[in-house]
This record gives sequence, structure tokens and C-alpha cells, in this order.
Amino acid sequence: MKKIIFATGNENKMKEIRQIMGDMDVEILSMKEAGISADIVEDGKTFEENAVIKAKAIADLTKEIVLADDSGLEIDYINKEPGIYSARYMGEDTSYHIKNQNLIDRLKDAKEEERTARFVCAIAAAFPDGEVLTTIGTIEGTIAYEEKGENGFGYDPIFYVPEFGCTTAELSEEAKNKVSHRGNALRAMKEKLKAKI
Ligand code: IMP
Repeated sequence: MKKIIFATGNENKMKEIRQIMGDMDVEILSMKEAGISADIVEDGKTFEENAVIKAKAIADLTKEIVLADDSGLEIDYINKEPGIYSARYMGEDTSYHIKNQNLIDRLKDAKEEERTARFVCAIAAAFPDGEVLTTIGTIEGTIAYEEKGENGFGYDPIFYVPEFGCTTAELSEEAKNKVSHRGNALRAMKEKLKAKI
């Protein structure tokens, strides 16, 4: 069976990728399961560049097929911030309650129609022969006026999806995965991988 390493230490992401790629004839390993630890500098200028940097670095190290992702929140009113700096916005150790309130405050003068935002996820697959495939997934929404919901993580409590009438922190994990940026990027990557391996 072919082996794929997913370059993440995040157990929730492992669960999601295993659910989505479960019907493929491949064994998916986390970095830990593959016995790798690496500190990769993500100095790309886009989500896609960062995902490629991570996937290539681990593929070079292991000579296996490696998937990596990079994701974040783009808010149109503030020039797509926090964007690729989503995890580092206001410092890695700052609580998301503080980050979320700060973003709400920065939008205090925005009109309703100016509150548009999206989660973006880029997935890269790097192969031992040097080939790289990429996909991008998004989910469109608006920035809420206050935090709502207990599920998910990060910016989920302020990401309102008009289609569902709630934030992504109010969706079950299963419902979010069906429509999320990461789910969409992973499903697109699955189709590309099926054609190649
Ligand atoms: P990374 O791709 O794991 O580095 O995640 C980047 C950052 O983007 C996270 O730390 C969160 O701040 C934000 N982010 C990405 N996806 C989501 C999501 O589904 N919900 C909430 N925040 C997210």
C-alpha cells in the first residue's frame, strides 16, 4: 500500500484527512507516526507557497509522498488581514478571544456589506520525483459582531456563514468539514492524487 505523510502535528487535521481520503488505497501517517520532527520556516508570501515549502521540505527528508496545508482568515475590509499571519496575529500566545475581539473592533466602522471574509486553505502534495501538486479551498462568510459558538478553534466564533445562519463555531465538526476550506481543498487534492497514484 502507498504511504502518504501529512505534515502536521494537529490531531484534528489528521482525523479530517483520514475521513476524506478514507476510500483511497493509501496509508496516511502523521509526522509523529512517521517518526519525523522538523521545524520548517514558513517564509512564503501566499498560503500556497507555504504549503509547498512544508511539503517539499518533508518529502526531501523522507523520500515519501508528503501532503502539507496552510490556512488562514482573509478579511476584505482590512486588506485581507490576518491572512498568512493568522496563527501569528497579535502573537502566537495571545488568546483567540483577544484576537477575535481585536478584529471585531477593527471593523467597527465597516458597513454590513463590507464585513465579507473567507477562510482559505492551500494543500500541497510533494512527490519524491520532485513533482508538486496544489489545491486551494475556501469558505465565504462575514465577520460577526460578537463571538458565538463553542466548537471549532481559532477564528471560528467570529466567522459567520450566511448560508447556515450561524458561525462555524456553532456547526458540528461533521457539518463544518463538509463545507470548510480545508475539506474543500482536501477533496480537490484527493481527485488529483487519484489521477496520479
Ligand atoms: P495553520 O494552517 O494550521 O497554520 O493555521 C493557520 C491559522 O489560521 C490557525 O491557527 C487559525 O488562526 C486560522 N484558521 C485556519 N483554519 C481555521 C478554521 O477552520 N477555523 C478557525 N481558524 C482557522
